[in-house]
Amino acid sequence: MNPEPATLWHANAAPAALRPQAQGEITADLLVIGGGFAGLSTALHAAEAGLRVVLLEANQIASGATGRNAGFVVPNFAKVDPDGIRATLGETKGSQLVQMAATSADLVFDLINRHDIACASHRSGWIQPSHSPTSLNRAKDRVRQWSAEGRPAEFLTAAAVKNLTGATGWLGGWIDHSGGVLNPVAYARGLACAAETAGARLHENSRVTALNPTPEGWQARTASATIQAARVVNVTNAYADNLIPGLAHSFFPLKVFQIATEPLPQSVRDRLLPGGQCVSDSRRNLFTFRFDAANRLITGGMHILGLGADARVPKAIHRRMAHMLNLSDLPPLQYTWSGIAAVVPSFLPRLITPAPNLIAGIACNGRGIAMTTAMGRELAQWATGTPTEALAIPVSTPAPIPLHALMRHAPNALLPISQWRDRMESPAGLGR
Ligand SMILES: Cc1cc2nc3c(=O)[nH]c(=O)nc-3n(C[C@H](O)[C@H](O)[C@H](O)COP(=O)(O)OP(=O)(O)OC[C@H]3O[C@@H](n4cnc5c(N)ncnc54)[C@H](O)[C@@H]3O)c2cc1C
Repeated sequence: MNPEPATLWHANAAPAALRPQAQGEITADLLVIGGGFAGLSTALHAAEAGLRVVLLEANQIASGATGRNAGFVVPNFAKVDPDGIRATLGETKGSQLVQMAATSADLVFDLINRHDIACASHRSGWIQPSHSPTSLNRAKDRVRQWSAEGRPAEFLTAAAVKNLTGATGWLGGWIDHSGGVLNPVAYARGLACAAETAGARLHENSRVTALNPTPEGWQARTASATIQAARVVNVTNAYADNLIPGLAHSFFPLKVFQIATEPLPQSVRDRLLPGGQCVSDSRRNLFTFRFDAANRLITGGMHILGLGADARVPKAIHRRMAHMLNLSDLPPLQYTWSGIAAVVPSFLPRLITPAPNLIAGIACNGRGIAMTTAMGRELAQWATGTPTEALAIPVSTPAPIPLHALMRHAPNALLPISQWRDRMESPAGLGR
């Protein structure tokens, strides 16, 4: 078992005792592999529907991307909006996925309320400021499209963005008021407790090493247990190993760094993001920021060269944040960590059915808190017998990306071009 990641979120969530390793012969209606948001939400919803659920996590709950993200609850996709989704998936399927996304933050905050999860959550909204005239037009269009779905989306002028963020230079933007922030580790641990209360059995330090079909469904093996289950949900996402052939080649694993500074003085806190929203701007090389409950500033970024990145990138994104927010006295780094996100060229989540009674959910493309929680509810419906055609997320067989060994480096290799295009498009001073 790998040690628990040393993130800001792990250090500031209520401690959780390690659950027992799976032992001996276990029988279940549903086996869930992976203890991130997707697995926990699946386990919770399936147990609430009356299934006997067992969840196996190789390390600890929230040791994957779930415990390593920025804690932004964002109810939309990174690159595709309702019109594009319907154009790609058709009216019926597209509308289902759009509705799943549109209501995904509602689901997160409902679960937090219903299960009384203490996770420093704040439903303050998610802001996307625009760095260029083109992205400003897109912001207007995004407001039109998501408002038409009944979402609380609002266009922001440059002055409104400045008022909300305390930063200058953006040309305007938009806000979805249904988004917000939370401590993802505390949220995941709360989902885990809720799933157990509903009757699910959760085991940590229990990596599934083999998965084989049987007449009754599937048999999974760990180092110390054999699990017989009628159905299996695999939600190992970017931390997938070779359990399901082809799965790990169906997405790009993208390493993303996160940092948190030491706490800022209240005077700065009152000026920057006084409403406590989270911000991801429109750049290809995203600039993101939010505060935590102790006034630490949090941001993230990618690397171009993997060699030495662990030491280099946190310092570089700290400098970038100081520059973007005009904070010459930005306090030093207190936490640095990284995680792996699963990204696909369509930027839409997918369900994969490699064999009968086995399904995998992947690729929430950096929008995982809300989307994987919603994906888990879909997967629980599948586990209770809903046909795959009726699910909101498109379903396919494993589709390995051609030349994956080479292509997986494309997002990092193309970063300098993205940075250059961002700079060329941005007429204002911010971040140039
Ligand atoms: C740095 C970073 C920042 C991000 N920021 C945000 C954000 O602010 N907002 C947002 O919405 N999304 C964000 N994301 C995306 C989001 O974190 C993910 O989409 C989401 O956590 C994925 O959840 P998951 O349950 O699908 O996978 P994971 O959380 O990765 O869980 C997969 C689990 O499977 C386990 N596993 C793997 N193999 C096995 C096996 N054989 N047996 C048993 N268990 C196994 C792993 O140990 C792991 O715990 C970010 C991602 C990263 C990396």
